Amino acid sequence: MTESKRNITPISNLGEFGLIERLTNKIKLKNSSSLKGIGDDAAVLSFANKHIVVTTDLLTEGVHFNLMYTPLKHLGYKSVVVNLSDVAAMNAIPKQITVSLALSSKFSVEAVELLYEGISLACEKYGVDLIGGDTTSSLTGLTISVTAIGECEPEQIVYRSGAKKNDLICVTGDLGGAYTGLQLLERENEVFKVNKNIQPQFDGKDYILGRQLKPEARTDMRNIFSELKIKPTSMIDISDGLSSEIMHICKQSQVGAKIFEEKIPMDEQTKNMALELNINPLVAALNGGEDYELLFTVPVSDYDKVKNHPDITIIGHIADATEGTALVTGAGSEIELMAQGWNPLKE
Ligand code: ADP
Ligand code: MG
Repeated sequence: MTESKRNITPISNLGEFGLIERLTNKIKLKNSSSLKGIGDDAAVLSFANKHIVVTTDLLTEGVHFNLMYTPLKHLGYKSVVVNLSDVAAMNAIPKQITVSLALSSKFSVEAVELLYEGISLACEKYGVDLIGGDTTSSLTGLTISVTAIGECEPEQIVYRSGAKKNDLICVTGDLGGAYTGLQLLERENEVFKVNKNIQPQFDGKDYILGRQLKPEARTDMRNIFSELKIKPTSMIDISDGLSSEIMHICKQSQVGAKIFEEKIPMDEQTKNMALELNINPLVAALNGGEDYELLFTVPVSDYDKVKNHPDITIIGHIADATEGTALVTGAGSEIELMAQGWNPLKE
């Protein structure tokens, strides 16, 4: 890993306050809503006439990431992005984040700085302020918790619960890439564990590796919706796989859904990697997760507005609750969707 080339300073040399100072001393606040950031007992924010959205994700080493193949800078970036994706799924604009860390003694100051390089890069790219956090020690590895705060005009917020019968079901981007990227990294890591001299086979796999290691949040969709003059009736981000997210929308909106196998957008690299790994590409899209695209519904009257947009694919429509949530296969048969998405607490 890249950090081995750098100096190694034990965190104990700096102590907790020295480490926080080292990680955060260059931070400049960008948003007028960030009145006070790091340095007091609490941050102070001010949002006039806006609704505020707040979301948190907790990532633990060995469960959510593997440092054997995840560079710390990428990990920092991704741990911010996954939260911004939740803000985007509310149709809100992310403005601030807090970052809390539990660090074991194997982490040097330089390693944590790499993590913060990724965090800062994401803050720059998405225009959010890092306004605080907490730092503590851990006996078992790295834990990162990021909280994101966003703002939205009250009438622009989109919930999971607003889908109506006959609405079009749409997704942004393409699906399954992050999962096939993860399977590739896992495969090459297994090879490496057996023989440390074998170089990983990553040629021609840049897209799916990027989807896994450096995902982006679809904060751009809010503007696209307003350009197209549409407001989704429901929305969710695709973190656990398309099946699971469709079922969330259907449950909360008390509707059913039909989606069409042939419509599900997938990149060529995703399809090829899935076939190489002997998995059905459709399974990667339906159950893989971590794509961080948006799944949303719009009234069928908006068909002309969404049908040709390069970032949007219509994959099906909302049905009556009694019709269940079904996938219509290429051959025309219907399969009931199952939420086999990533659920760490379920066997
Ligand atoms: P307290 O004792 O009130 O929890 P700390 O000493 O933990 O305060 O934190 C001091 C300041 O540094 C606070 O503003 C806190 O939000 C911020 N901070 C602590 N840890 C981090 C971190 N990992 N990243 C960013 N800011 C942090
Ligand atoms: Mg503290």
